[in-house]
Amino acid sequence: MRAVTWQGRRDIAVLDVPDPRILEPTDAIVRITSTAICGSDLHLYELFGPFMDPGDILGHESMGIVEEVGSAVKRLRPGQRVVVPFNIACGECFMCVRGLQSQCESTQNDEYGTGATLFGYTKLYGHVPGGQAELLRVPIADYNTIPVGDELPDERYLFLSDILPTAWQAVQYAGLSEPGTVVVLGLGPVGQLASRIAHRRGHRVIGIDPVPERREMASRHGIEAWEPDDDADRIVATTYGRGADAVIDAVGLEAHGSPFAHAAHRVASVMPDALARPIMEHGGVDRLAALYAAVDMVRRGGTISISGVYAGDADLLPLKTMFDKQLTLRMGQCNVKRWIDDLMPLVEDPSDPLAIGDLVTHHGGLDDAPALYEKFQTKRDGCVKVVLHPDR
Ligand code: NAD
Ligand code: ZN
Ligand code: ZN
Repeated sequence: MRAVTWQGRRDIAVLDVPDPRILEPTDAIVRITSTAICGSDLHLYELFGPFMDPGDILGHESMGIVEEVGSAVKRLRPGQRVVVPFNIACGECFMCVRGLQSQCESTQNDEYGTGATLFGYTKLYGHVPGGQAELLRVPIADYNTIPVGDELPDERYLFLSDILPTAWQAVQYAGLSEPGTVVVLGLGPVGQLASRIAHRRGHRVIGIDPVPERREMASRHGIEAWEPDDDADRIVATTYGRGADAVIDAVGLEAHGSPFAHAAHRVASVMPDALARPIMEHGGVDRLAALYAAVDMVRRGGTISISGVYAGDADLLPLKTMFDKQLTLRMGQCNVKRWIDDLMPLVEDPSDPLAIGDLVTHHGGLDDAPALYEKFQTKRDGCVKVVLHPDR
């Protein structure tokens, strides 16, 4: 089959590789019809080289048609249309039954102390081939597939695999019990959907991103879209001097200088030199810029909900300020299966209340992957979300 493979930093190749086979009786093989590129793939593209092997198959946002099932698969039959959640969970362990599928104890990787195994996401997460390919082996397939009907196009269902439940979880974790002001940092695909969900729940939503096309998309859906500037001052000025009730960080770690560095410097600048200097000198301010900005913008007693991926083992945080402001922090990988029952009615609603139809800007075949990774990374050409179709 053809598959999108990681070869090195910013080096993607589409190659012929052996077809996946059923390895366990609980496996299924899915023929992929749509598979998206995620901001998390950009971390692999740019940063996580040490945890990749050349030839690793990328992709964790996939759907398609079941082609073959193992002898112990009970719910699925060949021909069933399914979405595949990005985390691989058992559905039965202590964590899974509590809705913490990203921490599944049956699939977690003891070697690195990370959570559940993920499709297409490095040795840190089980080293399982991903779904940017013609075929995908799905372990524990009865649990790790979401059956869907045949009526609606792929695009409506595809994002149940990751970014839609991720955005939903981000808003849940923001923990707002009454209408308030929510700031969403980063208007990539996750930030777009989180903004729409928060707006639909009656909050005032301010989305911040340096990319004009991403701000325009957010504006179309009732979001106040701001360029990163003196955001904290502006937010304080419009919230009775308090700051945002919640800040959703849909950015995560960054490879380059950040448009939020000024906010991070501002937080660091009120620290005594002895504390601030190591943060400045170790690049922490740039790498953690969105998080520092969130600390700056959130009101006292507010919540920071982090869906962006961070990966430092011992990052320097402005804990004095965080403690003093009495902040709540929630974060982590999405527990995809936990939110599907909440999301399916919205996805299938004919009026498309989350405007999922207005997210994908670029489609292609597998062979277009190298060019489309580059476009999504540089955000050229109005690129917000890319979907590959291995069957085209
Ligand atoms: P993306 O890279 O398209 O979006 C990030 C956006 O942030 C971009 O639009 C960029 O312009 C903007 N940005 C960068 N620095 C900024 C800053 N300092 N302030 C404001 N905006 C800034 O990616 P995405 O697909 O939307 O994913 C966003 C994050 O969520 C990534 O870190 C991704 O790994 C993570 N993610 C996490 C989960 C999870 O389970 N928690 C799931 C999916 C994605
Ligand atoms: Zn993803
Ligand atoms: Zn489990």
